[in-house]
Amino acid sequence: MVEDEKRLAAGLRNGLEADGFAVDVALNGTDGLWLAKEEPYDAIVLDLMLPEVNGYEICERLREARIWTPILMLTARDGASDEVRALDSGADDYLTKPFAHAVLVARIRALLRRGAPQRPTVLEAGDLRLDPAGHRAWRGANEVELTAREMELLEFLMRRAGEVVSKTEILAHVWDYDFEGDPNIVEVYVGHLRNKVDRPFGRRALETIRGAGYRLDADGG
Ligand code: CA
Repeated sequence: MVEDEKRLAAGLRNGLEADGFAVDVALNGTDGLWLAKEEPYDAIVLDLMLPEVNGYEICERLREARIWTPILMLTARDGASDEVRALDSGADDYLTKPFAHAVLVARIRALLRRGAPQRPTVLEAGDLRLDPAGHRAWRGANEVELTAREMELLEFLMRRAGEVVSKTEILAHVWDYDFEGDPNIVEVYVGHLRNKVDRPFGRRALETIRGAGYRLDADGG
């Protein structure tokens, strides 16, 4: 459990332990993120508003690190946007404060029954395959050599296959949120990718959508 309000954290911990759970408590985001990465927990109860690193960031960083421990996010406000963002950042469920202890327990049990979601280890788009963990990519039976950046760009486009993604989104995810270089670098890298996964195989999967961005067409032939 990652919760910075000490009394609430202690109360929740006592309640959960009375219900038979073993609970570790982190009182700030930094400790919570560290513990979540180091320990194989069955589930994480994660407060949204935390000092140092907030709940959204913790979720995102865990998912980026390919840690799929089920996460129940505690949202304090009742704005629907918090909840949407909680789920978008990788949480599996959310609970709005204040809540009844029985509801918290029921939600945790539901998450435990579901277990860590099965995320595909190898992404596929048509006969293009990419193994992000193993840093390998294939077009059909042919392995394609990609640089780390090309790999990240292809992974991003494959996760959004069929959708138009803007240059800005690509820069934010594949480069950095505060990228300040020349945005045309995206075009350059899409060109590199085309030369590796499309042209040698007579394919046109990586499409430029004028004025909008790029789209990976899985069937691009
Ligand atoms: Ca808080």
